[in-house]
Amino acid sequence: MNVLVINAGSSSLKFQLLDVDTREVYAKGNCERIGIDGSFVGYESIAVEGKQKIEAPLPTHKDAMQYVIEIINATGKDFIGIGHRVVQGGWYFPESKVVTDETLGWVREVAPLAPLHNYAEADAIQVCRELFPDKGNVVVADTSFHYNIPEKAWRYALPRDVVDKLHIRKYGAHGTSHRYIWRAAKEFLGDDMHKLVSCHLGSGASLSAIQDGKDMDTTMGLTPLDGLIMGTRCGTIDPATVCYLVREGGYTIDEVDTMMNKQSGLLALSGISSDSRDIEDGAAKGDANCQMAFDMFYYRTSQLIMEMAQAMHGFDTMAFSAGIGENSDVMRLGVAKELEWMGVKIDEEANKVRSDEVRCISAPDSKIKVLVVPTNEEYMIALDVAELLG
Ligand code: AMP
Repeated sequence: MNVLVINAGSSSLKFQLLDVDTREVYAKGNCERIGIDGSFVGYESIAVEGKQKIEAPLPTHKDAMQYVIEIINATGKDFIGIGHRVVQGGWYFPESKVVTDETLGWVREVAPLAPLHNYAEADAIQVCRELFPDKGNVVVADTSFHYNIPEKAWRYALPRDVVDKLHIRKYGAHGTSHRYIWRAAKEFLGDDMHKLVSCHLGSGASLSAIQDGKDMDTTMGLTPLDGLIMGTRCGTIDPATVCYLVREGGYTIDEVDTMMNKQSGLLALSGISSDSRDIEDGAAKGDANCQMAFDMFYYRTSQLIMEMAQAMHGFDTMAFSAGIGENSDVMRLGVAKELEWMGVKIDEEANKVRSDEVRCISAPDSKIKVLVVPTNEEYMIALDVAELLG
């Protein structure tokens, strides 16, 4: 059963055509710099050999979708429906839902909570409805998996009338990835795993406490700014810092927003880059700021792993995933070392192995099993489409 998965950003549109039964990917790619000079479509497909690049003006997402259609048609594969990644589902998507006029309206209604993403995603859904009138569309929201965490975990200690009126609560993000990580880890460990701390560590990063498949807590909050230190996001800071920056620093609220989302995190700490590879190089050459960026990343991540463990009153497994979690043995070791006091022990040779497979990197006598799980959000989205439309 084939499914087309679309992941639209404000200036990009990623796509993947895959078979949910065999997991075979027939075509995948990214339309980049939509609405900006220098736009192009990069893709791979069973219809052509090697990586392809089409340089073409892409004024809108609709123009980008025309190229996606051509690429998909060239594979000769039909598909049952289209799954759309939506960053913020708000209070409307505790689970994935088929797109109707009403559900599409909900994606727009909650967009103020994620304006950079939801409007573009809603536009992409509308374009797909126009271009593929006979195909169903499904919204798969990043927030769904976290929606039913216990109230003591999602509620904010702010006045009730304010939080009720403005729908303020912990929504989290990366839910589709955390759901996949649980599933893949469970397939790998079976009955040995019940309480997992899932660590999605990419340029955006979050943790999730997952007990027997149910999410119990997560580190991102109302928005994806909360929690861990990320590539360019500061993660958790004293909320009064915002007021102080505005009152005493003279920054506008938009400037603070940009500062916290785009100019902070590993970028600000290292002073050179948001990419962990550059910081690793800097630290290896003795750059003290790069080393401090890593030390803080390890410390904060391990602290929040303990917070997730508390949500489950313990944990038996932790899984590293996403760009940093899957690729950086240095970062994995750094985080694990912080947790050595409570019995986490890494097999340093196993940690260095590079692979696309799920693997165990903890020592046999480690109290906690440590896995590396390559995430696959597209597959998870496709599974939801297959379930709802198949
Ligand atoms: P993601 O958002 O999941 O695509 O992750 C992107 C981040 O992963 C990059 O900014 C890098 O910091 C990190 N990353 C990707 N590849 C590697 C690698 N081979 N070694 C270390 N870090 C990596």
